[in-house]
Amino acid sequence: MSIPIVGFIPEIRSAVAEARARGDAVSLVPTMGALHDGHASLIRRARADGGFVVVWVFVNPTQFGPNEDYGRYPRTLADDAAISETAGADLVFAPPPEEVYPHGFRTMIHVRDLGNHLCGPTRPGHFDGVCTVVAKMFNMVAPDRAYFGRKDAQQLRIVQQLVRDLDLPVDVVPCDTVREADGLAMSSRNRYLDATQRANAPALYRALCEVRDRAAAGERDADALGKRLAERLAAVPGAMVDYAEVVDAETFAPVARLDGPAVAALAVKFGATRLIDNIDLAVSDA
Ligand code: AMP
Repeated sequence: MSIPIVGFIPEIRSAVAEARARGDAVSLVPTMGALHDGHASLIRRARADGGFVVVWVFVNPTQFGPNEDYGRYPRTLADDAAISETAGADLVFAPPPEEVYPHGFRTMIHVRDLGNHLCGPTRPGHFDGVCTVVAKMFNMVAPDRAYFGRKDAQQLRIVQQLVRDLDLPVDVVPCDTVREADGLAMSSRNRYLDATQRANAPALYRALCEVRDRAAAGERDADALGKRLAERLAAVPGAMVDYAEVVDAETFAPVARLDGPAVAALAVKFGATRLIDNIDLAVSDA
């Protein structure tokens, strides 16, 4: 393996400066590591767009709650570097926590309102941690483009707002969700699922597809669609529903009727493993 792995801000800055001196644009693929083909698809997309491609690997402590899985989140840097290289990245930036949050760190960024629903209430402070680390990595790497997955649709929307509100000179590139053959959205957390949970997990995507199909067939009662989603999920063995909702694609607030772009979104726990997924609802005739 020959891809460089750096961990300190002066190293990333000089690598990026060299790339710019060669005339390359700079692309950033932010991740928490434990890379899978969903991450690789973002890297391949960045590669295809050209320039110098940096993969950020950092399990960000500020986006985990006190009882969440920060300590046991998978850390697989050697594999991540190999996957990054194969997918076409030029460099992996994997800073230690003290490099990102040195002693005395005090500033957090809060995007108002967009975190009031879905993952916000069950993960207090989560999106502030995401916004803070995204702003910091944009300052460290100074990318022209940054690639984010639609699998984390609320996160993507909040990052787009952050970039707009703080005039960050970065193009945010949304990328489609990559799924296993049976429909389960790829996630670093899927590896926590035991065989039974893994066998039941594709029902999440099937439930989303059913709601999408009902919306496409003309159902406009978003409340009913949300309830149908919750019912379907409640029937999945071992699944504990955190939320199942139809929300406005712009505000991420629940909607009663489909009369504009909307998203059906879910968070479900299998044991201690929390999975999220979502699907766009077509409202072309609305
Ligand atoms: P994570 O490492 O889970 O924080 O994810 C890093 C980036 O990869 C985020 O922008 C995610 O939305 C994206 N991502 C994670 N899983 C997938 C997937 N299955 N398909 C596409 N993008 C993904």
